[in-house]
Amino acid sequence: MSAIMIDGKAVAERIKAGLKVRVEKLQQSGKTPGLAVILVGSDPASRVYVNMKKKACAALGIYSEEYALAENTTETELLKLINDLNNNPNIHGILLQLPLPGHLDENKMLEAISPLKDVDGFHPVNVGKLMTGIPGFLPCTPAGVMDLIRESGISIAGKECVVVGRSNIVGKPQAILLLREHGTVTICHSRTPDLASVCRRADILVAAVGKAGLITAEMVKPGAVVIDVGVNRTPDGKLVGDVDFDQVYQVAGWITPVPGGVGPMTIAKLMENTVISAEN
Ligand code: NDP
Repeated sequence: MSAIMIDGKAVAERIKAGLKVRVEKLQQSGKTPGLAVILVGSDPASRVYVNMKKKACAALGIYSEEYALAENTTETELLKLINDLNNNPNIHGILLQLPLPGHLDENKMLEAISPLKDVDGFHPVNVGKLMTGIPGFLPCTPAGVMDLIRESGISIAGKECVVVGRSNIVGKPQAILLLREHGTVTICHSRTPDLASVCRRADILVAAVGKAGLITAEMVKPGAVVIDVGVNRTPDGKLVGDVDFDQVYQVAGWITPVPGGVGPMTIAKLMENTVISAEN
C-alpha cells in the first residue's frame, strides 16, 4: 500500500483563487489590501521567503512594500518603522521576517506590531486568542496544516495527534489548533525519550523539526496522516522535509511532499490573513 499524496500546492492555489475574488471586491469599494514585509540583514533563506511572499501579493493584487534593513539596524530604528507602519492606513498586514540578527530582541519587536496588523499571528494578543479560542490571526504554517488535514477527509476529533517540535511559530500553535479540533495531542521535542514509540501512536503526525530523515517508516502507524513541515537542504542542494518520504510513503495513509506540501500553504494563509485584515 502507498499513501495518498496531499497536494499542498493545489490546495494553496484554490485558496488564492478565492482570495483574488475577495481582493477585487475590496478594490471595487476603494480599498487595496496592503502588506509590509520587513527583512533585517541578508540571510539568504529569508530573502527567498520574502521574494515568494511579494510575488504572491502581486499575483493577487495585494499591494506590498518591502523594507530591507541593514544587519546593524538598531532596535530604536526598527521600532520606529514598525510604529510608522502601525499608523499607515494603506498597510493592513506587517510581516517581520524571522530570524532577526542576534542583537535584536525578537519578542520585543513582535510585540511592537499592532495585533490588528499581525498577519503572522505571533503577537502575544493573537497567541492568547488562539489559546482561548477567540477569533484572531492564526499563525500561517499551523493554520495551513489544518487545511491540509481537512483535505485528507480525516476528522481530528478523538484522534491521536503527535506534533514533533515545540517552537512558538509552528509546534506549539499546531498542537493548540489540533486540540481545538478535539484531537488528543502529544508534543515531542529534543528531550522526548523514545520518540519512535510516541510517533507510532499517531493517527495524525506533524513533523516540525528541521532534521532531514528524522521520521522513518518504523515511526509511523500504518494508515496515519503524515504532515511534513520541515524544510532542509541536503549536501547536494536538494530540498527535503523531516520525513523519510520514500519509506514513509509506503506505510502512511496520507502524506505531504516537500516541496509542494506545507510551504505553499504558509504563503496562501499569509495572503488570507492580509485580506481578512483589510476586510476588517
Ligand atoms: P525550531 O528550530 O524553532 O524548532 C525545532 C523543534 O524541533 C524544537 O522544539 C526542538 O526541540 C525540536 N527538535 C530538535 N531536534 C529534535 C529531535 N531529534 N527530536 C525531536 N524534536 C527535536 O524550528 P521551527 O519550528 O521554526 O521550524 C521547524 C522546521 O519547519 C524547520 O525545518 C523550518 O525550516 C520549517 N518551517 C517550514 C515552514 C513552511 O512553511 N514549510 C514554516 C516554518 C518553519 P527543543 O525545543 O527541545 O529544542
